[in-house]
Amino acid sequence: MTYDVIVIGGGPSGLMASIAAAEQHAQVLLIDKGDKLGRKLAISGGGRCNVTNRLPIEEIIRHIPGNGRFLYGPFSIFNNEDIIRFFENLGIQLKEEDHGRMFPVSNRAQSVVDALLDYMKRLGVEIRIHCSVEDVLYDNGKTAGVLLKTGETIKSRAVVVAVGGKSVPQTGSTGDGYPWAQKAGHTVTELFPTEVPLTSDESFIIEKTLQGLSLRDVALSVLNPKGKPLITHQMDMIFTHFGISGPAVLRCSQFVVKAKKKWELAKVVMNLDALPAINQEELFQKLVKLAKDEPKKALKNAWKGLLPERYLLFLLEQSHLDPSAPCTTVSSEKIKNFTQVCKQFRFTVNGTLPLEKAFVTGGGVSIKEIEPKTMASKKMPGLYFCGEILDIYGYTGGYNITAALVTGRLAGVNSAMYSQEK
Ligand SMILES: Cc1cc2nc3c(=O)[nH]c(=O)nc-3n(C[C@H](O)[C@H](O)[C@H](O)COP(=O)(O)OP(=O)(O)OC[C@H]3O[C@@H](n4cnc5c(N)ncnc54)[C@H](O)[C@@H]3O)c2cc1C
Repeated sequence: MTYDVIVIGGGPSGLMASIAAAEQHAQVLLIDKGDKLGRKLAISGGGRCNVTNRLPIEEIIRHIPGNGRFLYGPFSIFNNEDIIRFFENLGIQLKEEDHGRMFPVSNRAQSVVDALLDYMKRLGVEIRIHCSVEDVLYDNGKTAGVLLKTGETIKSRAVVVAVGGKSVPQTGSTGDGYPWAQKAGHTVTELFPTEVPLTSDESFIIEKTLQGLSLRDVALSVLNPKGKPLITHQMDMIFTHFGISGPAVLRCSQFVVKAKKKWELAKVVMNLDALPAINQEELFQKLVKLAKDEPKKALKNAWKGLLPERYLLFLLEQSHLDPSAPCTTVSSEKIKNFTQVCKQFRFTVNGTLPLEKAFVTGGGVSIKEIEPKTMASKKMPGLYFCGEILDIYGYTGGYNITAALVTGRLAGVNSAMYSQEK
């Protein structure tokens, strides 16, 4: 038998593509090599399934630094508000949390996956799990179907490649789709880890001085070789045994990767402002006042409460101040220096954890060769791409999933339409 559409990959993009194609009355087969569909979707947002984000479209695109602008076209057809309506129509009530992140009210990721699977069944989508696709077949200059690892061939008029990127391979995303794209004539841009912890060989990391310490709402910047910030993110972060992690770090990570490459740097300088709510002069005045108010107190006690204790002690040491010294003994020059390290603690990072450990894959099938309103390949009739396999990568917070669902929607609708053309 020949299917209208074969969707390879049961992540958010493939599930949505199969639904959208079946809604157009196409005969759809969804194939996934894993034993469960939507595995990565289910572990997103800390296991509660961060289905989308409710920020305005401009903001969503700003939070997708990797080719987010490509999504203006797709968003004009199907966007985050459509995703919310889509899930609510499936009976999944959503709630908005910080930074516009949308979660199921039930907090159960599986409820989202189950609703999608249930709808797919109602639409008559055929599903094959435990079924690995080896290759996409092209014949006479157009898409012809797929070849399974078992040697079986399945024919179809259109194929949607929704196999994800190359990060967290235990969820099934092992980068299988890139050679299929290349075989069709597509460019695959260089892959790199994004939304990934950063590594550092600074002595305070190697000696584990700050390991396990979390800092809340700090401003972390990636600096260019001239010391100017390339990007600043104000969020939480944590020091680990290999470097730094946490939301601010994940968001900075792609800028570190790009800076290393652009300027051929072995190390990239980061700036940590532990007290972004207050400017340097105000902080200086505050520290002076605290010291003056209780001149006999030890510095570490007078300035307690400004910063987490471990970090305060660390910064005092960095500024060559004795934490036990009474406030009277500290010159205003030294307080100035201390103010500076609070606002501008600079340290280097030398890389990231590997792609396999990254939340998201940067790079992928070049968007220049994809029709933005249909997700059709510009190289091979009948071939469609959606989701993380594309060279589109955003911050975590529902942005990647939004991109996957939106591009999946378009790929599904348009592959079905293509397959039904006479
Ligand atoms: C721990 C974690 C947390 C995350 N949290 C967030 C978040 O909060 N917000 C956010 O926006 N993004 C988040 N992401 C990223 C987001 O989950 C992904 O961008 C998204 O799942 C990509 O969807 P996709 O459909 O393109 O691919 P995937 O979800 O990766 O799905 C690809 C599917 O294709 C299947 N497949 C692969 N190769 C083959 C083959 N040869 N044959 C058959 N099937 C195949 C795989 O088994 C898999 O099921 C997170 C990622 C991780 C790892």
